[in-house]
Amino acid sequence: MKNALVCGAGGFIGGHLVKKLKQDGFWVRGVDLKFHEYSESEADDYAIGDLREQSFVRHVVDRRFDEVYQLAADMGGAGYIFTGEHDADLMHNSATINLNVLQACHKRMISKVFYSSSACMYPAYNQDDPANPNCSEESAYPAAPDSEYGWEKLFSERVYLAYRRNYGMATHVARYHNIFGPQGTWDGGKEKAPAAICRKIARATSGSEIEIWGDGEQTRSFLYIDECIEGTTRLLRSSQPGPFNIGSEEMISINQLVDIIADIAGKRILKRHIPGPTGVRGRNSDNRLIREKLKWEPQQRLRDGLEKTYAWIETQVHRNSLAA
Ligand code: NAD
Repeated sequence: MKNALVCGAGGFIGGHLVKKLKQDGFWVRGVDLKFHEYSESEADDYAIGDLREQSFVRHVVDRRFDEVYQLAADMGGAGYIFTGEHDADLMHNSATINLNVLQACHKRMISKVFYSSSACMYPAYNQDDPANPNCSEESAYPAAPDSEYGWEKLFSERVYLAYRRNYGMATHVARYHNIFGPQGTWDGGKEKAPAAICRKIARATSGSEIEIWGDGEQTRSFLYIDECIEGTTRLLRSSQPGPFNIGSEEMISINQLVDIIADIAGKRILKRHIPGPTGVRGRNSDNRLIREKLKWEPQQRLRDGLEKTYAWIETQVHRNSLAA
């Protein structure tokens, strides 16, 4: 039986990845600071601890895993990573985790290690035009991410690829673009735009107003979680190092996103635009490289994923209001 290690198994993507690895027949160890908030982990072994601690990392990387997925990071949505208030923590915490996990894998002679970078590492100067952002993989340099979160991702993806060059490890790097779906953070300040908008609309009555950060004309694409997991395992099991974008090319504005979710909810929703952290003006995944090298790209329409996500968040909102 093959075995896999998922760092960040208590998080959104890690939680879904554990399920997929179990379906694929793996023995799985999950590691996180916490248990998953919304479901019981299907991991065969689950270690609670801090991956900033070298001794803990050595303890959990105790065998030659066939596959290691490094997803643990200090992260959140725009309200967490773009305000500047958490810069020192998120750079220190995520870089320390990334260095520790990679070094421990190298010492154990583990070959296949996946690292989750982010579209936030792309230069801000290519994302000023909401209609025409450029996020092709080779546009990464000269580097100019608009957040310290993005700078840390850029640093860490380079470290993972340096271990490939110098130590012959089969490291693989993906740049995720706005992953969304059920069982992700939807409240509390670390949630991302689709979850925040689903929550606001689920709590709103038809005809009422919800707050939107900025003018809502900023563009993004959003990738449903099942597609992200498929792209992730395909990349790790390929001979390709990346970095590859794993994202959707279906770009929409935040205002359009609100309209689609309102339509799914069957509510008439008005938008009040207020100042807030919005990130770059435009961003879209460019899937040419992954299409060419992996012969894969996501298939689902945004609306299909939003329907499943809204249904899940609506249930959470309802449960919370009953508990209050
Ligand atoms: P998440 O916050 O839900 O999961 C990250 C997990 O890491 C959390 O459960 C957290 O507790 C854990 N963690 C943080 N610090 C830790 C520590 N010191 N020791 C052990 N565990 C620790 O995030 P996610 O959305 O599942 O994202 C997973 C990865 O993908 C992250 O690296 C993130 O930066 C990257 N990414 C995500 C998106 C997205 O849209 N969700 C986009 C780009 C990149």
